Amino acid sequence: PGVQALAPYEPGKPIAELRREYGVTDIIKLASNESPLGPSPQALTAAREAAAEVHRYPDGNAFELKARLAARHGVGAERITLGNGSNDVLALIAQAFLGPEREAVFSRHAFAVYPIVTQAAGAVARVAPAHGADSDQPYGHDLAAMQRLISGRTRVVFIANPNNPTGTWVGEDALRAFIEQVPGDVLVVVDEAYFEYARDLAGLPDASRWLDEFPNLVVTRTFSKCYGLAGLRVGYALSSPPVAELLNRVRQPFNCNAVAQAAAGAALDDEAHLARAIALNTEQLRLMEAELRQLGLTVLPSAGNFLCFDVGGGAASVNEGLLRAGVIVRPVGGYELPGFLRVSVGLPEENRRFLDTLERLISAPA
Ligand code: PMP
Repeated sequence: PGVQALAPYEPGKPIAELRREYGVTDIIKLASNESPLGPSPQALTAAREAAAEVHRYPDGNAFELKARLAARHGVGAERITLGNGSNDVLALIAQAFLGPEREAVFSRHAFAVYPIVTQAAGAVARVAPAHGADSDQPYGHDLAAMQRLISGRTRVVFIANPNNPTGTWVGEDALRAFIEQVPGDVLVVVDEAYFEYARDLAGLPDASRWLDEFPNLVVTRTFSKCYGLAGLRVGYALSSPPVAELLNRVRQPFNCNAVAQAAAGAALDDEAHLARAIALNTEQLRLMEAELRQLGLTVLPSAGNFLCFDVGGGAASVNEGLLRAGVIVRPVGGYELPGFLRVSVGLPEENRRFLDTLERLISAPA
């Protein structure tokens, strides 16, 4: 019944689909929070080398990559669970810890994969009301409201920090205070998919530093965003060793492929590339945010590589106009944010084109 009731995840419109449907050729995609710089050249070299060996199964335990991640985070490799993207890790958490009669708590407007993995596991989703539109984190996670929904049946709480699609975040003190109050048999999953951007934009904490203190804390990360490896699918969880041990029991043996493992390891080493990706994002996000506000639009504060903005009742026609002009953004009506669109930060010239096209559409007479 949980699966029957599922609404499938809707990804950003693929470029090929827009080309086919609208006959547009010059297309920019600012719809899936990808890195416009792409991956480190070193990651591409490593991927090519690994591709020569694809007749072999990958290292199912990803010894090399885990060792590098362990060194990076200053934790033991036994705390790491690798996934085919961090979505896969979220699904593993649901598979291992949820099920019929069990509940997951998350916030309204939170990342779309939380309800999917919860329902797919046959568990009940308890959705907390978000902050109001007039909060300093509009539509963001209201941790007190989430706390109130935790019951004896709760096994997992999902917190996206920052959240997609709103971009909103929870500060260090509030997050710590929340985790301290959660009963020890409830996993607190802090989804830090946008961590590297968020640290620069909003000084967000690295929750993985608290793993020793909280055995029920799980922090998820990904190579899909600022490392520019979304197409290869690599993400991971950091947790207490017993939680990692359970996640690894339900994990498919070779869920993180050989090319992905090699590329991710090399990407970790290229700190200069990472710094460029972060600096570009911070600069361009600030610029786009200011220009969207100048257009008279409400823009939610964002600590990610995307902005969520309100175009009101005309959202569908503005989106259609953008598509016809070859600019793919993401409508977020499915997140109960009907008038909003989400745009990912692209290269400067892409962002310029998006802003100019949007201005033309918004100022055009109806
Ligand atoms: N968490 C959040 C909050 C996200 O926005 C995303 C990407 N859309 C993910 C997790 C999953 O990313 P991936 O599976 O590519 O690691």
